[in-house]
Amino acid sequence: MKGWQLTDAYDLEQIKKTEPLKADNKIKVRITKVMLSQDDITLYNGDDKPLYPLIPGRFAIGIVVDADANPYGIEKDMRVYIDPVFSCNNCYACTIGQPKDCFRFNVAGRNTDGFLRDFAVFPFDRTYPLPKGVSDTEALFIDYLSLAISVIDKLKIEKGEHVAVIGGNVIGNIIAQLIIYYQAVPIIIDDNDADLEIAKRSGIYYTLKADTRLEKEVAEITGGRMPPKVVYVTSCGINTENAIRISRTNATVAFAGFNNFTTRVNLSQAMQKQLRFYCITNGYANAETSINLIANHAINISTFNLASAKFADIPSIFRNGDENLKNGVEVPNVIVDMLS
Ligand SMILES: [Zn+2]
Repeated sequence: MKGWQLTDAYDLEQIKKTEPLKADNKIKVRITKVMLSQDDITLYNGDDKPLYPLIPGRFAIGIVVDADANPYGIEKDMRVYIDPVFSCNNCYACTIGQPKDCFRFNVAGRNTDGFLRDFAVFPFDRTYPLPKGVSDTEALFIDYLSLAISVIDKLKIEKGEHVAVIGGNVIGNIIAQLIIYYQAVPIIIDDNDADLEIAKRSGIYYTLKADTRLEKEVAEITGGRMPPKVVYVTSCGINTENAIRISRTNATVAFAGFNNFTTRVNLSQAMQKQLRFYCITNGYANAETSINLIANHAINISTFNLASAKFADIPSIFRNGDENLKNGVEVPNVIVDMLS
């Protein structure tokens, strides 16, 4: 196996490792595309304090090169999505057969090796065949959609209700699109005009700037009732007080995202309003539902700002991403063609 590994902060090196060619109940996959995001840059520069060494890369697809006989219908040459999130199999919840409540999920590219490598071996239950109606690029967004499904499930979103989404980046945008799919009304809030513009082009009608007029504008949209449900995207960089301020009394606030290292919450106003909080950090077990939703055109990813790159460009993606973050510039997702 040939891949890229973070050995320490700012220390990305190409590595070669031998992996078992074949083990029982496993599939060998040639990784064909990996999408890198801002979260990978914060692992690279040490802001997110990962346990090094770590192969980054959370979102990936590949082609099956070898598969044991299996009841899932997975065969050689199939295009597959690899689920980055899997339960630990060790904790109390896992041992009593409730892996959905696992105490310590393994997440590829975060706390266990990710997909920035040519080949990898997986158990069957982490690999999903991709139907023709799902493009490679769409498949790279499955894990975002899985997170959005977890958010919708937790918030029990109902038809017609207003849901404020603070954070208009890819995560917030996909959550808002899914809210529309379930016939509720999202209000996207961000301090970044570019993300609000993308939200508009994605079909999200209410987009608001996170500034001093926010509370008044949300009141106007909701007829003074304020949103009963609020989503705060943990990577958005906006003060969490905005989420508390626009919540209705007894509202539910979901903190959602793949990382949380900068999120601080002042509870004083939340206590007065008696808010209920949820924290959602993965979309465990939602991959199949996500694939079906994409095949049914539930979300549109064509408006996202995506870059593309080759295998050899990988070090410069991390260097440039870090440079952008230092200058306060949002880092676009980059799709790496692993065969180039
Ligand atoms: Zn567990």
